[in-house]
Amino acid sequence: MYTNRIYQKSPVPIQNGLLSCRALIRKILREGKNQSTLLSDIQKNEFDVSAMGSFVDTQLTHTLTQATKHVPFYKHAMVSPVHKIADFPIISKADIRENGDNFLADNHRGVIVSGATSGTTGTPLVIKQNMTSVVREQAFVARHLEWAGFKSGDKRAWIRGDMIVPLSQKEGPFWRYSWFENMIMLSSFHMSPNNLQGYIDAMVNYGTQIIQAYPSSIVTLAKHLDIHDQYYSGNLKSIVTSSESLSQEDKQLIEKRFGCIVFDWYGLFERVAAIGSCEHGRYHILSDYSHVELIDIGDGRHEIIGTNFNNSLQPLIRYRTGDHVYLSNETACPCGRVFPVIDRIEGRIGDYLLGEDGQKVHILNHIPKGVTGLIATQFIQNEPKSIEVQAVVNRDLFDEQQEHILIANTKERLGQSMDVFVTIVEQIQKTKNGKTRQAICRVKDA
Ligand SMILES: [Zn+2]
Repeated sequence: MYTNRIYQKSPVPIQNGLLSCRALIRKILREGKNQSTLLSDIQKNEFDVSAMGSFVDTQLTHTLTQATKHVPFYKHAMVSPVHKIADFPIISKADIRENGDNFLADNHRGVIVSGATSGTTGTPLVIKQNMTSVVREQAFVARHLEWAGFKSGDKRAWIRGDMIVPLSQKEGPFWRYSWFENMIMLSSFHMSPNNLQGYIDAMVNYGTQIIQAYPSSIVTLAKHLDIHDQYYSGNLKSIVTSSESLSQEDKQLIEKRFGCIVFDWYGLFERVAAIGSCEHGRYHILSDYSHVELIDIGDGRHEIIGTNFNNSLQPLIRYRTGDHVYLSNETACPCGRVFPVIDRIEGRIGDYLLGEDGQKVHILNHIPKGVTGLIATQFIQNEPKSIEVQAVVNRDLFDEQQEHILIANTKERLGQSMDVFVTIVEQIQKTKNGKTRQAICRVKDA
């Protein structure tokens, strides 16, 4: 909606109205009786080992049965009628891409919601889910929000990469209001140094009680406070972060400058694992959300292999996420919840580019979306106003039109005055430890 011309050309009060109505529709679709029933069910698991055990057994059995009975890939892969999870093959993104619809259940009904994974390497994968899946996801998110002290009606600030203010707009305000959710929504794309104090003041003036933010956005504000040796003057219950990795140092800085605890959430669109941090700062694997196996890959790291419980349309079993965690020596947390504790999630590299006003742009995941034939991308910036997009492509699909879309998407995020060009390459360069960086910025920011 935010890239729609009508929205972009509307005056601010109309934009507030449009986004409020959109939010209300989403809220009605996602919430309601089913979500509140599941929420109260899963809240019973938190402190009760036996309730947790039986809930998890039921979910896992349901997933494995659904897969072997109704999903072509698993019907063919599984010779044994006995469904022990260890009998299932470990699968990767490439398996899903190669097998396409063979991962979809043949007994689905109702609306299908498609979404693309973001992926740190800019190689999106389309995952499909049904509305039940969307509602169930929301119940787990709602439980974590309650850990963070959220009560219905609380005033929230939202800084999560929605382009609620067009990039071409250079004058504030860079925020809008979602009336039915009691929410101020702030743009993650206008956070140039001169604007940051305005963001802080807007949240304070609104009476914000909880902030939901991308780590890169809230860290930018925490660093602004830190540089000026200020503290957030409002009274916050908590800050909830997700969708990007958050380092321990950044978490501490945010907590210090905003005067509250950060509740961090790790999840992925494949929905095969979720990890939430609690009021004691421990990261808990939410074992009633999915089945997680941690495979030792050396150097103290373990890869997350996950099986989703909440998507009967596309049940993924033993899916390699490529994300790593470090185990904890602790077997229990002072919060008393029965979920396993891990030490930390290995950070994905926090890459960024500099936009046309010198603002740091961290949110690059959306750029490859909607471009056909793109296998991998990496953005390289050697000069302030110029971006090279290195792209590994399928030459049969990636034509001139797709190239134009890729360039347009890049300008959409970084500014129309940027010079953007595409170079087709055989492969993307990797870092020393084998990771692919999303972006390499060789311009020193002021
Ligand atoms: Zn805890």
